[in-house]
Amino acid sequence: MMYDVLVIGAGPVGSYTAELLASSGYRVAVVEQRDKRDGRSCCTGILGRECVELFPVPPDVILRTASSAVFFSPSGKRIRVCKEGPQAYIVNREALDTAWAGRAREQGAEFLLGYRALAARVTREGATVACEHDRTRAELRGRALVVASGFASGLTRQLGLGDPGDFVIGAQLDVDVQDTEEVEIYLGQEVAPGFFAWLVPTMPGRGRLGLLSRHHPGTYLVKLYNRLRAQGKVLSAITPPRFGGIPLRPLPKTYASRVVVVGNAAGQVKPTTGGGVYYGLLCAQLAAEVLHQALASDDFSEERFAQYERNWKRKLYRELQIGYYARRLYERAGDSHIERVFDIMIRNGIHEALLRADDFSFDWHGGLLLKALTSHLLGGIIRALKSRLTAR
Ligand SMILES: Cc1cc2nc3c(=O)[nH]c(=O)nc-3n(C[C@H](O)[C@H](O)[C@H](O)COP(=O)(O)OP(=O)(O)OC[C@H]3O[C@@H](n4cnc5c(N)ncnc54)[C@H](O)[C@@H]3O)c2cc1C
Repeated sequence: MMYDVLVIGAGPVGSYTAELLASSGYRVAVVEQRDKRDGRSCCTGILGRECVELFPVPPDVILRTASSAVFFSPSGKRIRVCKEGPQAYIVNREALDTAWAGRAREQGAEFLLGYRALAARVTREGATVACEHDRTRAELRGRALVVASGFASGLTRQLGLGDPGDFVIGAQLDVDVQDTEEVEIYLGQEVAPGFFAWLVPTMPGRGRLGLLSRHHPGTYLVKLYNRLRAQGKVLSAITPPRFGGIPLRPLPKTYASRVVVVGNAAGQVKPTTGGGVYYGLLCAQLAAEVLHQALASDDFSEERFAQYERNWKRKLYRELQIGYYARRLYERAGDSHIERVFDIMIRNGIHEALLRADDFSFDWHGGLLLKALTSHLLGGIIRALKSRLTAR
């Protein structure tokens, strides 16, 4: 059977792309290697307010809202940031994925669960995906292909589109907690070198403890778990640690003739925090628009699909670039730098001013980062000039 579109991956991004295309009347098949949601998602499930306003989620998948967070420096100094009203929603990611797949199904998309895509190929006639299901092989054919298979599935390499240039590993476990009502962020070389760790309350007495690290994320997670347990903040682990890769840079190329790559598979992720659901959904919309034009005009040329990359880069590229360079700068900062920044912020109330700034956003960090980097650079230049002048 020939589908209009084959989508590989039933994460939020694949299911949403499928929903948009199926609702336009196209015949869509979603190929998903897992045959059921098994509670093994590694995602913390924090979605910013803007994301939930633009892509409403069913109320029953929302576990709680967050309007504040506490940041801990390596030595334990605290900065609490709080803004009126919900700034973020903490969702049950498994339930969200199921709900989004359900919506795509309602629009007529077909879900092939337990089908693992082994190889994808594109010819002048169409796209072919070779799958394994119940130890048998199946071949699916479509007029176009959406690769939404998440981090490093290998399919983008097969299609000649490369791999994300940089990535980090996330590790997380569910825990019983005592008196944790706010999102907590922990910084420092001993906790999560170059990145950060979090304790996010989900339900009364429950939370998610996780971190990002380039090396040994499991070891750092156990260390943090033991430390918070000794403090009485974390009581016990409910699940074993789970791990997931997060791309920090986009793929070198996110399209080919008949093909678009979307979401984590394309590296459409905030390099500052590793959050990828919102940017992935924004790009899914852009992908569906270009696919719709290609299918309607029967034009599957590379040039037609290049429009998708131009569109998503127009929306996100600046944000991804600034975020990535800010991230690399932060990775070079030692604990003493972080302590100094905490001191300056606490002394001058800078965190409060940042929260009040017009361009403060949970999802868009570029504007503020650029301001901070520019004032940091300017500060450096002024200090250097001053010391030269006084030396004379
Ligand atoms: C520890 C951790 C915490 C995170 N916390 C947050 C957060 O709080 N907020 C946020 O926005 N983001 C968070 N993220 C990132 C977020 O999980 C991803 O950005 C998001 O899941 C991307 O969605 P996606 O649909 O592109 O990919 P995925 O959700 O990864 O979905 C890809 C799907 O494709 C399937 N698949 C893969 N290969 C194949 C194959 N060969 N054949 C068939 N199916 C295949 C997979 O089984 C999966 O279902 C976190 C990530 C980690 C690791």
